[in-house]
Order: sequence, then C-alpha cells, then structure tokens
Amino acid sequence: MKDDRIARISSTIRIIPDFPKPGIMFQDITTMLLDPVAFKDTIDLFVERYKNKDISVVAGIVTIRGVHQTAQTAKPPAPHRTTPYNAIWNICGVEARGFIFGPPIALRIGAKFVPMRKPNRLPGAVISEEYSLEYGTDIMEMHVGAVQAGERTLVVDDLIATGGTLVAAINLLERVGAEIVECACVIELPDLKGRDRLGDKPLFVLISSN
Ligand code: AMP
Repeated sequence: MKDDRIARISSTIRIIPDFPKPGIMFQDITTMLLDPVAFKDTIDLFVERYKNKDISVVAGIVTIRGVHQTAQTAKPPAPHRTTPYNAIWNICGVEARGFIFGPPIALRIGAKFVPMRKPNRLPGAVISEEYSLEYGTDIMEMHVGAVQAGERTLVVDDLIATGGTLVAAINLLERVGAEIVECACVIELPDLKGRDRLGDKPLFVLISSN
C-alpha cells in the first residue's frame, strides 16, 4: 500500500519550466523544505527504510558495541576513526541538494556523512570523476580517506534524471573499494531511464515524476 506521506511530499515540490535552460522541467525541492512536516516525512521514510535494512540482515550478524554488522563486513575501526564503531553505513551526499537530505539520514542511522562535491571545493587531497548531466558536464570530487574499503555505503541525492551523477558517485566510491548498498533519491524522472545506467546497483526513490 502506498504511504500517504508520499502524496503530501509530492504536493510540496514545485516544478519550474525552462530552468536552468529551455526544455528542462526543474523539480524544485526548496518548497518542500518550507514545509517541516513534508521535510520530516521525507527523512523519516528514508530512515525507516535504512534502519530496517540493517536489522533485517539475515546471515552472519554479529553485534559490535551495540550495533549490528554482518560478519562479512566486520573489520577493525580505521585508524583515523574518532567515532564509536557504529558507522557501518556511509552516507555520501552529492552536491548540492544531496547535502540537504544526506546529513539528517546519516545522523538518525548512526552513519558518517561524506560530501561529494564539485571541483576545487574540498580542501584536502581528492579523487575526481568526470560525468555528464541532463544539462552539461561536471566533475565530482571526494576526499581521499573519507571512505574505507569495504564500508557499506548509501548514496543520496535529491533527484535522478539521466543517472550520470549517481554513476559518477558510484565510480568514485568503488575506486576506493566501498560497497554500494543502494542509491536513494527523493525524485526519479523515469522517462530518462537513469535507473538503467546504475546496472546492478539498487535505486530507491519516493516519487516518480513524468
Ligand atoms: P542526472 O545526472 O542526469 O541523473 O542528474 C541528476 C542531478 O542533476 C541531480 O543532482 C539533480 O539535482 C540535478 N537535476 C537534473 N535534472 C533535474 C531536474 N529536472 N530538476 C531538478 N534537478 C535536476
């Protein structure tokens, strides 16, 4: 049964035709942020899904310092880690609107948040990936050392159109050995078939917009 919250969230998203260029129907989630109930419902829906996913792991579950972790991914904390060993998920937020949804999900599920940014914004050493957008091309960067090999990682953005952004994020993360558990977006534009470009990486969206 479809969750009643989805229709409410959907009604708060404003569509602006011809932005940032003619022919683009821009899905503006900033109007959703003006509605605290819709914004909270959005975060809640993601948290419910990813909290549930952790505790529903069937095989080889061990408990380390009070959190569940599969035996296959259990490993000692990375030397630089300053938080307790409860961050079995990374939340990777894609600039810019992935930064709105990623951090509250990360806080609620006890994961670390890793920003994936446009070029020359991150101060430390980075790895980069070039990718194409629905409107143009861009480069995505991530700090070296932010994600360790084998870490179970969720990639968050506001919207999937052609899928190029999420593919770039997946490529960057896989280059450092992350395990991509899922990509999560508020909105999917299914006509652009971005989902197909993700290959075997699962995609979860709240709203499909034609
Ligand atoms: P893509 O790489 O083609 O899947 O594009 C997804 C990225 O571009 C996301 O970060 C979105 O924020 C942005 N984007 C692409 N198309 C739109 C659209 N029609 N409305 C709002 N944002 C979009």
